[in-house]
Amino acid sequence: HVYTKEEVHQLVKDSNVHFLRLMFTDLLGVSKSVDLPISQLDKLLNNKIMFDGSSIDGFVRIEESDMYLYPDMSTWLVFPWGEEHGKVARVICSVHTIDGKPFAGDPRNNLKRIVDKMHKLGFKHFNIGPEPEFFLFKTDENSQPTMEVNDQENYFDMEPLDLGEECRRDIVLTLEKMGFSVEAAHHEVAPGQHEVDFKYADALEAADNIQTFKMVVKAIAKRHGLFATFMPKPLAGVNGSGMHLNMSLFNNDGNTFYDPKGELQLSETAYHFLAGLLKHVRSLTAICNPLVNSYKRLVPGYEAPVYVAWSASNRSPLVRVPGDRGVGTRLELRSVDPAANPYLAIAAVLNAGLDGIENKLTPAPEVSENIYKMTPAERKAKGIVDLPDTLHNALKSLAADDVVKDSLGEHLYKNFYEAKTREYNSYRLDVSSWETKKYMSY
Ligand code: GLU
Ligand code: MG
Ligand code: MG
Repeated sequence: HVYTKEEVHQLVKDSNVHFLRLMFTDLLGVSKSVDLPISQLDKLLNNKIMFDGSSIDGFVRIEESDMYLYPDMSTWLVFPWGEEHGKVARVICSVHTIDGKPFAGDPRNNLKRIVDKMHKLGFKHFNIGPEPEFFLFKTDENSQPTMEVNDQENYFDMEPLDLGEECRRDIVLTLEKMGFSVEAAHHEVAPGQHEVDFKYADALEAADNIQTFKMVVKAIAKRHGLFATFMPKPLAGVNGSGMHLNMSLFNNDGNTFYDPKGELQLSETAYHFLAGLLKHVRSLTAICNPLVNSYKRLVPGYEAPVYVAWSASNRSPLVRVPGDRGVGTRLELRSVDPAANPYLAIAAVLNAGLDGIENKLTPAPEVSENIYKMTPAERKAKGIVDLPDTLHNALKSLAADDVVKDSLGEHLYKNFYEAKTREYNSYRLDVSSWETKKYMSY
């Protein structure tokens, strides 16, 4: 619902809001915010809030730095804290250039562009149900994160109720107060690792939700004296953190992935979408797994995908078809990690799927055997390729894939590719403690 100016003034009165938190996301997926006192509300509603775009990663050069924040009033949401000094309301904004055009370097504007393309192809919603995982670490006396987790628990463990459990409950309660519908929250496989799943939403709202979710998790963890991280692989030797994306495409008649008469009760559209996803997944990886560290998660043995394959019967392939049918029919992409910029990741997977639909692509057959037990020759015989094993190789695939490049548009692609290449090179130039330990005796 987009509120009128009068309605917004009423909302402010009713909820004792004293501050506006204007949020947007930079190229690298970092949430940026500007806090305004409520006296600036009319200025915001009239699209007159200016900021310096040259100080934001991947935005613009100094010469063209003045940018505007246009509020998306459908994203109005009051944070359930800050009663003493008046409440803070979230408003997600879209970045516009000085001449009023949507700025192509704003990842949220870019996602809208891909969503428009989807509308033109006759679809109404791209529903995304995310499964973000994260770690809670202890902090030291200066409130800095340590690498020490605060429990030795395991998947679905119940006892005892420790600091981590309490923190997770607080996260869930806070999210619920903000209107999130939390579907599951549990301890994950690694010590100190948790997962909170919330209800699916249409592409743009889902990305907004992910950004707000991360902010809430970090803020609540801090209050409990813990540090929350969405780093994909913070600890060697145990599972990393993924953010599986459950995806379905709706039109006016409902879920287009469902066909009671189709093979596995999946529709032609679902198979085309799946084929598009698989075709482009190696180049999508740079966007969905954007850190040097992301590739330390995508290794055998830790429930993270390594090979390009799909299955309806197996839990661990890259793309899984969960058991639900009817309105819940969906594809689950398991490679994505929570360090991904959700606006870019969702734009990229949607555009890949749409490419499959437009070109009526057919996916390779389902692989229901355990791929991890196959020899390289067996995998080769079945045409199963690997996901990229480094950010460097993922970027190489990206650079060669016009469909995935197009899902970012020129401005974002260029800046993303350059920023990530610099990041990889800086890693490559570092001499790590692993190397000195291993090689000093030479
Ligand atoms: N933590 C695993 C990963 O890296 C996923 C575990 C699960 O299946 O939820 O993706
Ligand atoms: Mg999980
Ligand atoms: Mg999952």
